[in-house]
Amino acid sequence: MSTELTFRQYQDGLADHIFLGLRCDTCGSCTVPPQKVCRNCGGSDLQVEELEKSGFIRTFTVIRVAAEGMNPPFVVAMVETSSGAWVMGNLIDIDPDDANMALIGRKVAIGSHLVKGDVYACGDIHSLRFTLLD
Ligand SMILES: [Zn+2]
Repeated sequence: MSTELTFRQYQDGLADHIFLGLRCDTCGSCTVPPQKVCRNCGGSDLQVEELEKSGFIRTFTVIRVAAEGMNPPFVVAMVETSSGAWVMGNLIDIDPDDANMALIGRKVAIGSHLVKGDVYACGDIHSLRFTLLD
């Protein structure tokens, strides 16, 4: 695969249910979303890789006051993917009022959904979302 991954290519992958990242030839770390250099070591020898669409919740928060156009409450989680990269997205299959520390460590599937552009974005984007697997 190419050694460069643009944000548009990453977005097109998500639209096609393909989760792309960059694997560093120097340290082996995975960088998602795409950047010009490895987020672990700063190396620039990166290979595009299709990633497994699963991971584990490492932390989360419940958003009760949100920016214009969003519909709180909702849960935002940081997930450590099976490839080792940490990504942020919405945990969608839980009532925000039921979110508690028992979510930490739970396995999730990684998907995406189209978010309409608003005053904070330059157009529609595919945003990550997580669903509980266990
Ligand atoms: Zn690296």
